Amino acid sequence: MDNFLTGREKQIVRSGDTSQKIQCAKPSLAGSVSQRACVFCGSRVVLYPISDALHVIHGPIGCAAYTWDIRGALSSGPELHRNSFSTDLHEKEVVFGGETKLYESLSELIDRYKPKAAFVYSTCLVGVIGDDMEAVCRRVSKEKQLTIIPVQSPGYSGTKKDGYKVACEALATLVGTSDREIPKISINILGDFNIAGELWLLQEYYRKMGIYINATITGDGRVDDIRNAHKAGLNVVQCSGSMMYLAKIMKEKYGQPFMKVSYFGVEDMSDALYGVAKFFKEKELMENASLLIKEEFARIMPVIRMYKEKLQGKKAAIYVGGSFKAISLIKALRLIGVQTVVVGSQTGTPEDYALIQELCDEGTIIVDDSNPIELSQFVKEKKADIFIGGVKERPIAYKLGLGFCDHNHERKEGLAGYEGMLNFAKEIYATAMSPVWQFTR
Ligand code: SF4
Repeated sequence: MDNFLTGREKQIVRSGDTSQKIQCAKPSLAGSVSQRACVFCGSRVVLYPISDALHVIHGPIGCAAYTWDIRGALSSGPELHRNSFSTDLHEKEVVFGGETKLYESLSELIDRYKPKAAFVYSTCLVGVIGDDMEAVCRRVSKEKQLTIIPVQSPGYSGTKKDGYKVACEALATLVGTSDREIPKISINILGDFNIAGELWLLQEYYRKMGIYINATITGDGRVDDIRNAHKAGLNVVQCSGSMMYLAKIMKEKYGQPFMKVSYFGVEDMSDALYGVAKFFKEKELMENASLLIKEEFARIMPVIRMYKEKLQGKKAAIYVGGSFKAISLIKALRLIGVQTVVVGSQTGTPEDYALIQELCDEGTIIVDDSNPIELSQFVKEKKADIFIGGVKERPIAYKLGLGFCDHNHERKEGLAGYEGMLNFAKEIYATAMSPVWQFTR
């Protein structure tokens, strides 16, 4: 394998090759310029959509700028989350410490914005200079009578996935601090971040079925709902990479069951609705789910079939944050006639990769924690027509002269649910068939 780093071989396999199991869930190889983000970024993306909380980044301004408005997470109410507050540490604080600056910033921001709670994130620099962030949070919390949660996330202390865990630990300190009664047939939606309003679509499906939605964690999230999250009958967990840890904590602490789902692609969306209906063992819920799914299929399938005809034979490369999402994407692409030839993720699990190997056609390249050089080589080798990824994969696709579909935080089009499947098919068609690519290859 030309240009590939020694030490990365075991994180790359080809479907059909049973001689090797993919290695994953390990730190990135030094020098490989991994597509992964840091611990701070991981915690920030998970907590960011809580829209009535104050989010303060204790560190240099660059960390705050890097994660400013990082998700297109929409709110139906307050929009405090869309600000990026930073203590903007400089040389002076590196020498004398930044606790005073944090104390003053937090106090001023709380007076000015009157948030429902505050999250304070530590960054690499704070980890190095050793500010006692927890003590400052405790002091301000007492003075202002507000819940202030320190999020210990120095960027260097692991990978983005460790940031998810830190965020879940922070959320777990909020859960269980309120006791509002709610209907028995109720769920929390975990791991949907309301990108381009996707959560509202899902809420509508569940409501039509007759299910009460308690807390949404964290898309369109509110502090008071998260406090009461332990009351719901079931945690429905999407994006399991980021939220499974919280679901496990809640199961252990409150005996709350959880279910892993995906909302991408009609197959997985339908499985999610049927799965939730089955869990509550209510005949009416199952009937409602069945009716809803039938109606949605009747509405979207003729259009999907039209796209399938036109896209038949096209090849796709996928590189996303979590491997669970990659599985849904492979199925959704197959539904519109597109073959997956390269698939990878930043934070995949052995179970998901095993399933990907089963799902994909022989010869499909499966890669964990990749880098731009590898991805470019794979895309060229497999002659992909379209790349599906996030902000860091976009330039790779464009430099290689192939279509790109954003399936990450920054997208402006909802891709979840039945409506999302239509949007996805339309976007793949528009970009893969664009005449512009004939001038780039
Ligand atoms: S926390 Fe560290 S790695 Fe993350 S953005 Fe800030 S400086 Fe960079």
